[in-house]
Amino acid sequence: MIPGTFDYHRPATIDDAVGLLTKLGEDANILAGGHSLIPLMKTRLASPEHLVDLSGIGGLKGIEIKGDEIIIGAMTTQFELIASDELARHIPIIAETSRLIADPQIRYKGTFGGNVANGDPGNDMPALMMCLGATYAVTGPDGSREIPARDFYQGAYYTSLEHGEILTAVRIPTPAPGHGYAYEKLKRKVGDYATAAAAVVITMAGSKCTSASIGLTNVSETPLWASDAAALLVGTSLDKATVDAAVAAAEAITNPASDMRGPAEYRTKMAGVMVRRALERAQSRAKG
Ligand code: FAD
Repeated sequence: MIPGTFDYHRPATIDDAVGLLTKLGEDANILAGGHSLIPLMKTRLASPEHLVDLSGIGGLKGIEIKGDEIIIGAMTTQFELIASDELARHIPIIAETSRLIADPQIRYKGTFGGNVANGDPGNDMPALMMCLGATYAVTGPDGSREIPARDFYQGAYYTSLEHGEILTAVRIPTPAPGHGYAYEKLKRKVGDYATAAAAVVITMAGSKCTSASIGLTNVSETPLWASDAAALLVGTSLDKATVDAAVAAAEAITNPASDMRGPAEYRTKMAGVMVRRALERAQSRAKG
């Protein structure tokens, strides 16, 4: 199918984009890379009368190291995340995760901001942003505000963004040098969304785990931050009993749907398997 008719707008500034979205109301939607929105329009699951394309706005793209944070512009593409030397040096889990999104064609057009703002629990970046403790910078008719990724996701395709608000950038605290990390994703084939996936970031001092964070993808209506599971790991040597307990705690917060990726019980178990694998790989990479 092809999408229904719509009016296309390409503002040159954030203020103009916010003004347009406010004036046009609920019939207008933001267009970034179009690789989530256009498929929805083709199947009539979305039928906006106006598309406000952000691609003409300068300053929404790029990766900047600022103090102990990395700031990524919303219109930075998933390919650019993979190609960035700065990200590879400071937060390599971002490229590792991006490589598991869809296929190269989609990653060349799909944006980081679109991936996190979309609210699809199948998107890979949101759980990673929760794991990393990222903050979303947003501008709308009432000015600018910041929303922690951990508070952003309210339900499937339902986020804290108000109509007229644009996600402009994501601020990520740079993980400690030598941190261990891994993103493990089970999918049916290349290009598929996750049956279940887990992001893990840890720090180790010798054999002791000194900090841990875990995010889960596509095993609930929203991405999940498994804070209780991560807390069990801190202060331990990541021995088998502790990892078993953390895996069980992560599984306990999942609530996946039964769908073509498998029954709910299977997807919950796969979330646990992804956490266990990500922990093992993160530990093997940690230096400290
Ligand atoms: P768009 O499609 O343009 O927008 C998506 C939604 O977000 C729209 O509602 C839009 O209004 C809103 N939005 C976009 N940018 C902003 C902003 N700056 N501020 C506020 N709202 C905004 N993704 C994965 O994570 N993992 C996968 O495995 C995966 N597989 C895919 C397979 C296929 C075949 C396809 C077509 C897509 C797949 N995707 C996957 C989705 C892809 O990563 C999208 O590019 C991404 O989800 C959305 O980014 P976009 O720039 O294309 O956003």
